[in-house]
Amino acid sequence: MRYVDSHCHITFDRLYGRIDEILDNCQHSNVSELLIICCQREEFDRAKQLQLQYPFIRIAYGFYPCDTYDLQEQDYQDLEKLCQSGDLDAIGEIGLDYHYDDTDKEIQKAALIRQIDLANTYQLPISIHMRDATYDCMQILKQYAKTPFIMHCFSGSVETAWEAVRMGGYISFAGPLTFKNARSLPEVAKTIPADRILTETDCPYLTPVPHRGKENEPMYVSFTFQKLCELREADPEMLSEQIIQNYHRFLNVSK
Ligand SMILES: [Zn+2]
Repeated sequence: MRYVDSHCHITFDRLYGRIDEILDNCQHSNVSELLIICCQREEFDRAKQLQLQYPFIRIAYGFYPCDTYDLQEQDYQDLEKLCQSGDLDAIGEIGLDYHYDDTDKEIQKAALIRQIDLANTYQLPISIHMRDATYDCMQILKQYAKTPFIMHCFSGSVETAWEAVRMGGYISFAGPLTFKNARSLPEVAKTIPADRILTETDCPYLTPVPHRGKENEPMYVSFTFQKLCELREADPEMLSEQIIQNYHRFLNVSK
């Protein structure tokens, strides 16, 4: 059995301090695919360095919606250079997050559209963060996105999940699927097509049951995967292979 963590922040300071242990744990727990999501240039540089040693690492970089307010032209140019260089496997996480009082929706939307345009130009898939912004986010995806996208740590309704699926998107499940208050998530997990499913940790956040309270890391993705198998009454070997296939299709790689 092999596992996919399609969204982890192991180059955040909090996890990077024990990066060797974390990557060792991945290898011992059969986490064979990792997409590191970098929100800062320094995190990208760390990820690039790690990739030399661990070729199963892939890298996404993009401007997190709540970090878009102070972006300069230079920041976008740097991102574009990375897209051009072939060093990125995806752009993300990007999206809309209207949760906080100081939200500036217009700036967030403009940043999202601009980054989707980059993804289209350089044929890169995208990882989407959507919180309290379903309508605007789905509208923008519908209108602009031309490359595959992941709805990371999906927490929306069955209807929204299907809307994303019909647009060719992937639904990625994280620790909240294992929580008691998982709301509509079990229903989403049961009903969406197998070829649209991905798994992730979003570590260091959202540690799955039974490790809640501990710091999350990629090896715990297996608990979310197990919950998915239970809900779908799926054969674990088959679902594991399916998720790996989905992940490779999303990234447009053949291996
Ligand atoms: Zn994240």
